[in-house]
Amino acid sequence: MNPPLSRLSAALGYTFRQPELLEEALTHRSASPHNNERLEFLGDALLNLIVAEYVFQHYPKASEGELSRLRSSLVKGETLAELARGLRVGDWLRLGLGELKSGGFRRESILSDALEAIFGAVYLDSGLDACRDLVLRLYRDCLTRLADASDLKDPKTRLQECLQARQQPLPIYNVLEIGGEPHAQSFTVECTAAELRAVAAGSSRRKAEQEAARRLLEQM
Ligand code: MN
Repeated sequence: MNPPLSRLSAALGYTFRQPELLEEALTHRSASPHNNERLEFLGDALLNLIVAEYVFQHYPKASEGELSRLRSSLVKGETLAELARGLRVGDWLRLGLGELKSGGFRRESILSDALEAIFGAVYLDSGLDACRDLVLRLYRDCLTRLADASDLKDPKTRLQECLQARQQPLPIYNVLEIGGEPHAQSFTVECTAAELRAVAAGSSRRKAEQEAARRLLEQM
């Protein structure tokens, strides 16, 4: 016997007006032809949208490539399955006999698909705002960890923090050369720190410094 669905609702912090949507979201294709595959399809698209919107708003300096990487790290099956386990989604899954016997309620893809289907179900039940609330609430810890991760900081900031952590003097940047036409200048900059030296060129002093800092970090 599965625990009552109300307990899952409580864990989600969301009460369905149409509980049959939640039941559908928890039904694996091995259990019924009326299963969660279509809801999963919808939930996958919603999750991508909500996470894309979040990283777009919260990382104004991130490039398109960095935004993509951030989104992928959040919407990947592993992350979803971890969240699904935290909610004990496996306790409510409806699986066919074969999947039950082989421990399907613990399988990562089944768990992550069910959670996506739940996102789709909440959207159909109450709309995008309710779905966004749920997603961002479930992802709160992941999003905090993401904000702490340094990989989005620019190289000069990372280098400075790295040196400070080692209690070493701050880096020194010198312009070695300014070349090119006035409208297409090229700056060559050297960066020295921690008894290392890196040289880089760029179309502005700032860009050259960032690149030199990145090269120095690589040497460290
Ligand atoms: Mn999926």
